[in-house]
Amino acid sequence: MINEKKFIYLMSTLALFFVILYIGMNYIISGKNINITNFFIMSFNIIFLLIISIILFSTIISYVVLKDKKVNKNIIKLNLKIVNIIYPFIIFISRLFKISKNEIRKVYVDLNNKYIYANKYNFKPEDIMLLTPHCIQKSFCKHKVTNDIENCKQCGKCNVGDLLKLKEKYNVKAYVATGGTLARRIIIENKPKAVIAIACERDLTSGIQDVSKLPVLGVFNKRPNGPCFNTEMDILEVEKAINFFLGGN
Ligand code: SF4
Repeated sequence: MINEKKFIYLMSTLALFFVILYIGMNYIISGKNINITNFFIMSFNIIFLLIISIILFSTIISYVVLKDKKVNKNIIKLNLKIVNIIYPFIIFISRLFKISKNEIRKVYVDLNNKYIYANKYNFKPEDIMLLTPHCIQKSFCKHKVTNDIENCKQCGKCNVGDLLKLKEKYNVKAYVATGGTLARRIIIENKPKAVIAIACERDLTSGIQDVSKLPVLGVFNKRPNGPCFNTEMDILEVEKAINFFLGGN
């Protein structure tokens, strides 16, 4: 099953769980002679029906968005907010079905990117930040690119040189961070208006959730040598993201 289908399947399962809970609770309340006020029963019914409707709404919108159908950007935004709230439940259910977290995170980042791409931006180059983890640098390289990416000698052995070229070509900001905490600090100190983050599914998901006030486009890194070691990126995807934030397509 491809990731999108699994994600929709998990959302539907969550809705089904609340339906079963709703029916079960109503059965218990009506079957036993429990002394509960009508107000309580009415509130209970309204809350549960609301939760079920919201999850079903989000399931349908997520399906349509992931299928690349045209959806109003405000609806996509609202859906992303709902997905953010129910995300921990989706992860919990994914564990029960033995679906890997990364598959779910991938779809979450896709939903986020689709929302960002549904908007129009026209930022100045200096307001755009490229942010990548340290594992993108070749392990044998001794140049301290985490202090300053300009220390890279552009030898062509890793994508740090390609990022530096993009920084020079477009005059955007570019940083190589040693971890999530430093990445957050770099964002706080530099106050960019948009971030293009290159990282694994886990770091992109937590990063996007942490800086929800900024538009963040996530680009998945490639890990031919395993996680966190000599990783790679699709530099064309990064360049496409820069052009998009600059107001192009
Ligand atoms: S491209 Fe830059 S960071 Fe990468 S190995 Fe060469 S000098 Fe080091």
